[in-house]
Amino acid sequence: MNYHSHSDPKVTARFGDALLASLAPNGGLWMPDKIPSFTPEETAKMGAMSFADCSAALARHFVDDRFRAEDLTEICRDAYNFPVPLKTLHGGTLDAATPEIADEYILELFHGPTLAFKDFAARFMGRAASHLMKSSGDKRTILVATSGDTGGAIGDAFLNQEGINVFILFPKGGVSKIQEQQLCTMGGKDSNVRAISIDGTFDDCQQLVKDAFANEQMTKTFSLMSANSINVGRVIPQSFYYFWTSLQIKAAHPGLPIVYSIPSGNLGNLTGGLIAKQMGAPIERFVVGNNSNDPFIDYLKTGKYTPRPSIPTLSNAMDIGRPNNFPRILDLHNNDYDAVSKVCWGASFSDEATERHMRRVFTETGYVMCPHTAVGHLAMEAFSKDVDRDFIKVTVGTAHPAKFADSVERIIHEDLPLPKPLAAIMRKSKRVHVMPPQLSALADYLALFA
Ligand SMILES: *Cc1c(COP(=O)(O)O)cnc(C)c1O
Repeated sequence: MNYHSHSDPKVTARFGDALLASLAPNGGLWMPDKIPSFTPEETAKMGAMSFADCSAALARHFVDDRFRAEDLTEICRDAYNFPVPLKTLHGGTLDAATPEIADEYILELFHGPTLAFKDFAARFMGRAASHLMKSSGDKRTILVATSGDTGGAIGDAFLNQEGINVFILFPKGGVSKIQEQQLCTMGGKDSNVRAISIDGTFDDCQQLVKDAFANEQMTKTFSLMSANSINVGRVIPQSFYYFWTSLQIKAAHPGLPIVYSIPSGNLGNLTGGLIAKQMGAPIERFVVGNNSNDPFIDYLKTGKYTPRPSIPTLSNAMDIGRPNNFPRILDLHNNDYDAVSKVCWGASFSDEATERHMRRVFTETGYVMCPHTAVGHLAMEAFSKDVDRDFIKVTVGTAHPAKFADSVERIIHEDLPLPKPLAAIMRKSKRVHVMPPQLSALADYLALFA
């Protein structure tokens, strides 16, 4: 598959080069030239595969000839070694062995190592980049500034990946205890993932990374690569779980329309869903849930898009005032507002409404939602009020509630047990390098590993 810049179709690249470059040279977002599409017979076959094998079968259509079918199978089986369950609010699971049928499911995308859906994209991307390094003998250095969660997902995704060194910059004392423990315990003494505690703020960390990328000498010496969320390698894999899970639901509920609700920020998760639908996944519509940062909801209501500064909320991973995948969504629909508003419906909710909803769902069913998932579930509830026929509701669960234990415990008045992967991390000893927010200090440290 070839890719083009969304702002100039004449700027093109092969998949691997789009992946390693992150942005097109003209600053545009990479888009696949053509979304593959499958007949119902073909999709039924893919739905009968395991999730990892279905992902590999889809990935074949998006990569270039540097990836063989067996490479993709290996990459996907290694990346997706955790479950992708569709749960009912009462604790049942929709699977072949014990089909628990309901008209509503939570698609729990938080059973990967860092307990949030970003593992799906990051783990595929890490392995795909490493595959390219192995065959070319090249090396890359990833620099990532984090205020908590992104660093963990990127670090895990690239851990032990050949040809790639990762440096995670976080503000000293500026991340939660669990997050710091996660960042500073990846791999052993010779790990390719290293944490750097910057004596400064998150903005200082971000500025250092920006300065390093702007510094020609450093970019060349260390072959710097970005792993940020606008990389096309992080969008494509987010279509895999929509494609596969919609086929599991269709098999259990033949003939019923399926609607997904997605708690959204940068709209990368929604972009993945829209790609899955265009490939032939049996999805009728997407509901989009926002917190008070809701420029996309305004766009759906009015056709006018007005990005604005973000404001802090309870669902902080969605505090985005200028969603960076918005241009991709327009591009997928030929910049046609009517086409976008036909497949997407949206609503936004205050923190008070979100807290009330988390408490109500917990009291009525025992199901504990993270604040982001709760926003998606509220949006689905609002959407259902407008619909007077039967359909299957799927709310996308984007993070494990224990990741946000502080607020969740306060809201539902209940202690949350630490999930196994986190409990294991809390017992490890930390490795971390402390440095002042100076470019020369960063260059000296990177040189030790070049
Ligand atoms: C990143 C994130 C989101 C938002 O996803 P987008 O792809 O940016 O729309 C929602 N919930 C959680 C928990 C996240 O980490």
